[in-house]
Amino acid sequence: MSRFWSPIVHSLTPYVPGEQPKLANLIKLNTNESPYGPSPAALAAIRAAADDTLRLYPDPASDRLRSAIAQAHGVGMEHVFIGNGSDEVLAHTFQALLQHDAPLLTPDITYSFYPVYCGLYGIAHEPVPLDEAMRVDMEAYRRPCGGIVLPNPNAPTGIALGLDEIATLLRAHPERVVVIDEAYVDFGADSAIPLVRQHPNLLVVRTLSKSHGLAGLRVGYAIGQPDLIEALNRVKDSFNSYPLDRLAQAGAEAAIADREWLARTTGKIIETRSGLVSSLKNLGFEVLPSQANFVFARHPDRDAAALAAALRERSIIVRHFRTPRIAEWLRITVGTDEECRSLAEALKAIL
Ligand code: PMP
Repeated sequence: MSRFWSPIVHSLTPYVPGEQPKLANLIKLNTNESPYGPSPAALAAIRAAADDTLRLYPDPASDRLRSAIAQAHGVGMEHVFIGNGSDEVLAHTFQALLQHDAPLLTPDITYSFYPVYCGLYGIAHEPVPLDEAMRVDMEAYRRPCGGIVLPNPNAPTGIALGLDEIATLLRAHPERVVVIDEAYVDFGADSAIPLVRQHPNLLVVRTLSKSHGLAGLRVGYAIGQPDLIEALNRVKDSFNSYPLDRLAQAGAEAAIADREWLARTTGKIIETRSGLVSSLKNLGFEVLPSQANFVFARHPDRDAAALAAALRERSIIVRHFRTPRIAEWLRITVGTDEECRSLAEALKAIL
């Protein structure tokens, strides 16, 4: 890289996104997308929005979409912040986090974008080890910190915290922002959004990429008290005042309103997940209890990288992890029943 750029850019360790292969005949179980795609109402709204009005800038505040989200969660519109994917919402959140004399806490095994944002924005960061059962160790968060960011359920483990545990955390750090990243909450965990009313330090981050089947549209949002949201709007308007294009605003609004589709497809994924867990256990895998649309599994005597490579030869892509603490684990997205059956058959042949 050219020496003309700043030392910060030279020191970055960027996030490496999961592989997005071009081949259509692959069974793609590596980046936790929905196998069912978006609601037909969302697709119709996107098509209808693709007209001459595209010459005009979109609504910078995404008012209609914010109103649909506010209604879906029983909060006021001023509690809602919208971004271009929850990655962007998280990026603005990390930027807005105050610099304290104590580090930001996240689990050590978690969404790998968090340490990347800390590096980008120069935030002191302390990864907190999970306990032996790969759960978030609540006791370890009882220490001075500059804020906490936790996915619930955690990724890539899929294990969820209860609302009582989140409330305890919020009470333990009343002067710090606690961010609960609910990318996977619709697959069986409890949302912390009802806690927003009593806790001015809680920010809940959501995405339409997983349960709404809209990873390609790039829409995420955050819910918190208006004081917290105001800071995010300041950061947004200092960065890109039009984060969501017209098609994304229209599609996301229709997707949020189609609750029947959400309930049906997430219910189906939860059902398929229990079948997938049983077949993996029958094949000798250890599988963590997942409340997400993926499972985290390891085989006692097979290397995860070798298993992932062997599956790849059979046109099935899953994710394995390379860091020293989680090297032996596979993360497998819950696909359709048929995809999960093909995966189990392929694993049987490989083992
Ligand atoms: N949070 C977590 C925990 C995730 O796993 C992901 C998906 N990689 C995201 C946030 C970002 O999702 P998106 O930007 O597609 O909304």
